[in-house]
Amino acid sequence: MKKETKERPIAKEKSTKIKKDSVNESITKGKFFDKAGKEVFLKDIITKDECWLLKKENKWILTHNAIKKIAVLAGISKNFDVDESQTITPDYRNELEHVVRVTIHCNAKGKNGGCVHSDEKDLTMTGESNRINTPNRGRGYLRKMAEKRAFDIAVLEHLDLYSSIFSEEEAADFEKTKEPEVTPGTKEFEEVTTEINAILNAEDLAVLKKVGRKIKKGVEINKYTKEQIKYLKSLYEKEYGKRNAEF
Ligand SMILES: [Zn+2]
Repeated sequence: MKKETKERPIAKEKSTKIKKDSVNESITKGKFFDKAGKEVFLKDIITKDECWLLKKENKWILTHNAIKKIAVLAGISKNFDVDESQTITPDYRNELEHVVRVTIHCNAKGKNGGCVHSDEKDLTMTGESNRINTPNRGRGYLRKMAEKRAFDIAVLEHLDLYSSIFSEEEAADFEKTKEPEVTPGTKEFEEVTTEINAILNAEDLAVLKKVGRKIKKGVEINKYTKEQIKYLKSLYEKEYGKRNAEF
């Protein structure tokens, strides 16, 4: 496993003064504690350019820079850890699926080893990116995108903002596809990584069919959840179509 610690570049913030043209009402309720334990309202620190409403999902989206700004105020360290997925290797058969886990560290003070936001100062979240939900981009960008998504989710989650606010990096994903029920990093996904890899790495149609039969047997003995079956089925069909076209 590759492990690295990165220094995250911080946007230069001169002050956190209330901005006059701050955003409209729906986002006004969002708030978090800064590192001193003082309540900060999103509307006071986020500008119009840093957020927008995604109507289809009815979610507020914050830019990555806005989330970095929030992180700094909240006392979340600029150093975070990145782990590459051990089970998913990006290649052209899985649409260059990049899965990374980012662990953020909060330096805000708190009681009992926790911080002002949570009992746990560290939080690990998974981010993913591939050619389908992030089109026209290369490997380096996809990895970076997965990392940004994981970081953004971790910050919002740590500050308890995640239920109503999403990051722009995720929004890009929403716009392309409906959120799948089985996503990398979830327990449901991890449970079927063997099957996923078998499908994606099948050398030819015959091997793929064999994998299909094996999964079918698993379905018969109720090995999978409904969502897992749906996911494996669509992945199988996609691969099957691709392999079939090769003949
Ligand atoms: Zn914290």
